[in-house]
Amino acid sequence: MFDPIQFKSNFPLFFQKENQSLVYLDNAATTQKPQCVIDAVTDFYITKNANANRASHRLARSATNLLEGVRQKSADFLGARYKDEIVFTAGATESLNFLAQGLSHQLNKGDEILLSVYEHHANLVPWQVIAKETGAKLVFISGDFESVGNQLTSKTRIVSCTAASNVFGKISDVDFFKNVKDKFPGVFFIIDASQVIGKIPVNVKDNFCDFLVCSPHKFYGPTGIGLLYGRKDCLSRLRVSKFGGEMIKNVDLLDSSYVEPPYSFEAGTSPLASIAGLGACIDFVERQYKKGMLEYEKKLINYVHEKLSVLVSDFPEVNLLTSPRNNIGIAAISSDKYSMADIGFWLDEQDVAVRVGDHCAQPLLKSLNLTAVLRVSVAPYNTFEDIDVLFSCLCDFFNSNSECLDVALATDKKVSNYKDELSAINYHDLLTIRSWGNRYKKILSLGKLVNKKPFLHNNESLVSGCEAKLWINTIVDKSQNGTVFTFVIDSDSMVVKGLAALILCRVNAKSATQIKSIDFDAYFSELGLEKYLSESRFSGMQALLKHIFLTIK
Ligand code: PMP
Repeated sequence: MFDPIQFKSNFPLFFQKENQSLVYLDNAATTQKPQCVIDAVTDFYITKNANANRASHRLARSATNLLEGVRQKSADFLGARYKDEIVFTAGATESLNFLAQGLSHQLNKGDEILLSVYEHHANLVPWQVIAKETGAKLVFISGDFESVGNQLTSKTRIVSCTAASNVFGKISDVDFFKNVKDKFPGVFFIIDASQVIGKIPVNVKDNFCDFLVCSPHKFYGPTGIGLLYGRKDCLSRLRVSKFGGEMIKNVDLLDSSYVEPPYSFEAGTSPLASIAGLGACIDFVERQYKKGMLEYEKKLINYVHEKLSVLVSDFPEVNLLTSPRNNIGIAAISSDKYSMADIGFWLDEQDVAVRVGDHCAQPLLKSLNLTAVLRVSVAPYNTFEDIDVLFSCLCDFFNSNSECLDVALATDKKVSNYKDELSAINYHDLLTIRSWGNRYKKILSLGKLVNKKPFLHNNESLVSGCEAKLWINTIVDKSQNGTVFTFVIDSDSMVVKGLAALILCRVNAKSATQIKSIDFDAYFSELGLEKYLSESRFSGMQALLKHIFLTIK
């Protein structure tokens, strides 16, 4: 039997005082790390630290042994025939960049690269760059993976697809690749297995791909290390795109030659401590009762879907976008009415960690007419109680905030018509409210005063450094009494609108000198914002202030 409580006991983060009420449901972004992985990273620095491949002393030899030992372990873990089929990279993103750069010389004008709309930006943008450079064409699998065979043409050179969507969790059946691969021997088949390794069994010996990439930090390993598997004959056809020390056979002033793969792809000093952690991580995963773990995760994701189905039936403006069938452990919701960013903030205030946004899959969201999705992603250390906490916080949000969040849509596109939008705000009202919870609600209601202005939603108006989207436009009024500034805003988050309103009610219709004389630190601490707001929301406010000060300079 798989025991989630015993499993969780391996992860020290959950037992730190500050994390005892943490409900961590952002595992598709990165998982927590077990003690054995943390120990392996630390132990490397304490007992083994030296650079590998410079075997002139004892420690360097032991670092080299570590590197090659973990390479062998990684090869066994993925089912590779040879250890030299494993390249250590910085992560799935770097692996995919290596593949796109390294295969570009195989592409001619009009050749086709077949991808799916489910791809993470890491498996899309590098191909866009290469397609532009070579004149190759990006083609997208329409429909499900079952149809992949019908979509390969005589022009297809590369097929690169995710083994599971990082937004919807749907597992792609890579067996379809296996059937097709034999019929198209000249095509490179690439699998982005970032979301599945460590969860479902994957064995490259089954010959469904030529290359496979993954990021161990998504299955309990450290960050900073990635794996790129390439079948021996394919890896040797990959062009090197990163150059420097360690990958060199000979260097003259005008030309150089390189060593063989995988070393030709490992320029520079390898992330040895992370590699030590990866070794411990593979041992850790291999020690688990994998079948039981997978079954437990399935039960968890079923339960998440059960709860979310209740939620969407109680709050019909919320849409459940996923189904538990064939799912890697992800549930996703969206809504036209409620701001996903606000729900994320609300959950965060209660220490429930989920991810909100486009999940680095903008084309997928756009194809479904969505701008943001709230994603819940489970791991086997999550419990059914975690899901109950999530559900109860979500219900609280919709029950207590729904009236605050329904905002009129501005139809008037003239920014100056919104100049007085915030003139009724009196921040002193906020100071009379004692409890932080009620202040938070008041901030939400201030957000309601800010009309929705879709015409502001463009890159020029976007303030960078905010967690949610914040768009701003400035009206400069010049008269004989001097120049005064008014800022008009919109955001996809009601909380951010409310917080921005608290700043703008102090600065709007004022001159640069007047604005500069305001003591914002004192103001924020008087409002209690610094103390109660989470760091990221607070830094969003600082980003807005920075923008204002740059504008009035
Ligand atoms: N592909 C998929 C499917 C992913 O989920 C991710 C990470 N979210 C990546 C690629 C990129 O991984 P990394 O950021 O670790 O390079």
